[in-house]
Amino acid sequence: MDKIINSQEKDYKKQAKELKYETRAFIAGQYCDSASGDTFSCHSPIDNRTLGKVASCDKEDVNRAVSAARHSFELGVWRKVAPMERKKILLRFAELIEKNSEALAILETLDVGKPIIDSLNFDIPSTVKTIRWYAEGVDKLYGEVAPAPTDIIATVSREPVGVVGCVIPWNFPSYMAAVKFAPALAAGNSVILKPAEQSPLTAIQMGKLANEAGIPEGVFNVLPGFGKSVGEPLGRHMDVDAIGFTGSTLVGKYFLRYSAESNMKKVSLEAGGKSPHIVLADTPDLDLVATEVADNIFFNQGEICDAGSRLIVERSIFDELVYKVCKIAKKIKVGNPLLLNTEMGAIVDKTQMHSILSYIDKGEKEGAKLCVGGKQVNGETGGFYIEPTVFDNVHNRMSIAQEEIFGPVLATIPCSGTEDAIRIANDTRYGLAAAIWTSDINKALWASKELRAGSVFVNNYSDSDLTVPFGGFKQSGLGRDKSLSAFHNYTDAKTTWIKIRNQ
Ligand code: NAP
Ligand code: MG
Repeated sequence: MDKIINSQEKDYKKQAKELKYETRAFIAGQYCDSASGDTFSCHSPIDNRTLGKVASCDKEDVNRAVSAARHSFELGVWRKVAPMERKKILLRFAELIEKNSEALAILETLDVGKPIIDSLNFDIPSTVKTIRWYAEGVDKLYGEVAPAPTDIIATVSREPVGVVGCVIPWNFPSYMAAVKFAPALAAGNSVILKPAEQSPLTAIQMGKLANEAGIPEGVFNVLPGFGKSVGEPLGRHMDVDAIGFTGSTLVGKYFLRYSAESNMKKVSLEAGGKSPHIVLADTPDLDLVATEVADNIFFNQGEICDAGSRLIVERSIFDELVYKVCKIAKKIKVGNPLLLNTEMGAIVDKTQMHSILSYIDKGEKEGAKLCVGGKQVNGETGGFYIEPTVFDNVHNRMSIAQEEIFGPVLATIPCSGTEDAIRIANDTRYGLAAAIWTSDINKALWASKELRAGSVFVNNYSDSDLTVPFGGFKQSGLGRDKSLSAFHNYTDAKTTWIKIRNQ
């Protein structure tokens, strides 16, 4: 993690009060109200205060943004710009976000309730890094010449698809947005970004920064609003060529339907997960494992798609490891995320908090044993906070082991050995990530082959890098984000056949 700011003495509560920010849509290079003039209230989960009235876009705004994006694409003001020049502009965009990182980090924390220390050290730096990484790639990607018959030169080049809709969730608003729009823009597309209704603010600010960086008008648009009124019209639009979606499996499936019922646009999906975290008895350092388990499930209030939410532990070390994890969970400081010593902040909104609490209730009713947490706390603030929660004695068929809770809730499940662990791990409709801790190389290699997941971690859980593709097996997604793989989501392969005559 990059530390960008040494913020020990800063008063972020005070800075948050003084923060000024834009709340309108960004279409064709300008901020504007929604066509209907409608707005929706954006709340902070810290204390449920209103952060502003945000433009509530609908189908008409989608049409406006798509036509601006299409126009810019047809004119070639971006796609025809020399790769080195496009790179320069994107690097400037990254630099401007970096310059504004403190304000953006405060806004992110206000909007979604995550600890300011994480917004400062993870979310905004990861956003900057992502844009830089794809910018650097633009002028280093070569096409291919196929080994065709000798009287033919057949080249394979990748071309931007055209207009790309990026539809994103609320857990890492600016970072998830950059993971989509950076490769799409780098490839020469025009983009329409639809942030989640719970977290529109940082995405909106990016419009101005994109302008300042020199991204031509129409190439980068931001439409705040609801899934039904912005997401669906984007997904069904006949003039949108690709959708990059991150969110739930349910809504991901809607986008496949929208595509099938409209123009067969390309759809890439990063969806939900219920990832298994296996610990075998030969693991030497259980304190290290307990720390990684807790860091992983409680980071970002557990609102992480690839959180290791099912801890599958060999029976002989089960009690000891669960005890260690519970001990860490009890000490985690849950509080106002604008305070620097807060380790876990607020859940994104009231609906999500109640959904998590209802899973906790279901877990108890289905016979799991609540070891730690389980309750709403800090209710007097008006905000939405839940204690780090650990369940013991979970059976893999219980709802808390099968359904994505997307909150700070860990289900611990005993197993009898490697084979049993893999069986339990794979008994899920998801396949985003999986991990195994063991000191036996053969067990590690065997498990890494048998686990049905897009990312398998051996003796770690939280490693992640832009150079490594990320995505899911089964109902966790389609396509891969990050790395050069992401270009495939936003480009089409073109083959050009040149016949050599007079041979
Ligand atoms: P979500 O409800 O699926 O929403 C994702 C996006 O889709 C939002 O912008 C949402 O808009 C929009 N949307 C909702 N209903 C729609 C509809 N009927 N038609 C078109 N668009 C629609 O997901 P979320 O609650 O924001 O985020 C949590 C989910 O994201 C979890 O399942 C998590 O696992 C997943 N996630 C996956 C990854 C990954 O990389 N695999 C990363 C992060 C999160 P509204 O906000 O207006 O509903
Ligand atoms: Mg919000």
